[in-house]
Amino acid sequence: MELDPVDIKILELLQENGRLSFRDLAKRTGVTTPTVSSKVEHLENMGLIEGFTVVIDPEMLDQLTILLDIECKPSDLKAVLDRMEGEKEVRELYAVDGTKVHAKVTLRDQNHLNGFLETLGSIEEITSYKYHTVTRTVKEASRAVLHDGQNVVVNCYYCKKPIYDNPVKLKLDGKDHYLCCQSCARLYKEKYDRIKAEAD
Ligand SMILES: [Zn+2]
Repeated sequence: MELDPVDIKILELLQENGRLSFRDLAKRTGVTTPTVSSKVEHLENMGLIEGFTVVIDPEMLDQLTILLDIECKPSDLKAVLDRMEGEKEVRELYAVDGTKVHAKVTLRDQNHLNGFLETLGSIEEITSYKYHTVTRTVKEASRAVLHDGQNVVVNCYYCKKPIYDNPVKLKLDGKDHYLCCQSCARLYKEKYDRIKAEAD
């Protein structure tokens, strides 16, 4: 599914400043305020806009940031990722090359770092790790980069598989629901109606 140029412009503006009003966005994209409102609602409903957040400058908090490389057996990768995901200090977490874990971790100070490394040492599945201390953050941009004619991959609401072509859209209770094919659409509609009937 392709985003139109106005969607892209709205997303870029909101990525810079999530507090822009629909009126501001309308003025800057050349469409009406109701159009902006319906487009934003649509992008949220699709799950592409995950939320509106506050960006805090961690440098001002004088914290310590490390980049961490973890090695483990490929069969333990999921266990390590699950364990690391639960740690509050872990701010970014990646599986890389299918066999290793890379993380960005922010800590209060050296003592906190020592405590954190002790925790790492106690995780059996980790065979080795090394870390680098960040001495200067030069660039930190939000991860999404939008290109002209940007494609969006939504997962089918019924079978959960990614939809690479145009989805089958079902409008139910004023919201679009995305399905990969007519058969998923039929099954989804049945399930939706059944759940709704039970709730009534
Ligand atoms: Zn499907």
